[in-house]
Amino acid sequence: MPQMEISFLGTGSGTSTNRSHTALVYDCDDGTRLLIDTSSGNTVARNGQELGFSIGDFDTVLLSHHHPDHLSGLLFVQHARALAREDESALNVYLTEETLEWAIKMCRAAYLNVAEVDKVGAKNSDGRQLLLWHVVKPGEQVNLGPTTTASCFPAEHIFGAVGWRVNSDGMAVVFSGDTRFNPELVKASQGARLLIHEAYRTDEELEYANQHGHSTAGDAGRAANQAGVAELVLTHFDSEFAVNTQPLLDDAKKHFNGPTSAATDLYQITVSGQ
Ligand SMILES: [Zn+2]
Ligand SMILES: [Zn+2]
Repeated sequence: MPQMEISFLGTGSGTSTNRSHTALVYDCDDGTRLLIDTSSGNTVARNGQELGFSIGDFDTVLLSHHHPDHLSGLLFVQHARALAREDESALNVYLTEETLEWAIKMCRAAYLNVAEVDKVGAKNSDGRQLLLWHVVKPGEQVNLGPTTTASCFPAEHIFGAVGWRVNSDGMAVVFSGDTRFNPELVKASQGARLLIHEAYRTDEELEYANQHGHSTAGDAGRAANQAGVAELVLTHFDSEFAVNTQPLLDDAKKHFNGPTSAATDLYQITVSGQ
């Protein structure tokens, strides 16, 4: 029976003051470890360490979009990883063309460990390859491990934003990225074992959530129901839900009958297939 362990390193929205920004780790049965988004600052190193991850353990990153709460931690991941790793292997970063433009700008502006950055990747001043970009198009399948593949789908957020479906040994886990209610996600999530979906506000604040390019918890529940997934985990919470996520869970459960939980920073779950 395939298994995947999922670790939430950051579960706060961009404006959250109580939680770390978005990053997740997937540990697949075939030994493949994926970092999904990179949070901001040193979250991946700091919260990762709490759960026993070394920054040198990460070889593969999937990015959802270029907002700094998802992308800017990449600077610190590549820096800490290069220090931790003696070998010359680069960190492989999967992202859309639009996200790449911003990733290149960020590397140029910050200059942290990066002396040269182009459409291939980034190098330090010794010519060591730190990052390798892999540009993906929605629907394109990429092979990431012996039995692990991934494909992205368009999100309803900003230009070039995507969510990701990861398949490992026949079991699928979908991450929404930042998005309003997203019919493309519903299509891409059909039959998934787990949907990890952002929930920025309660249904009462639907208009506010949509104006900011985000979903309500009810939207997440509707997507889970329409896709027929087995389980739903909510994430990407604003500050007002730091302590009590129950109003969000209540809204999601109005639409989705399956097991539903709200992630916290350092939350870990293991899902099993059939
Ligand atoms: Zn965000
Ligand atoms: Zn965003």
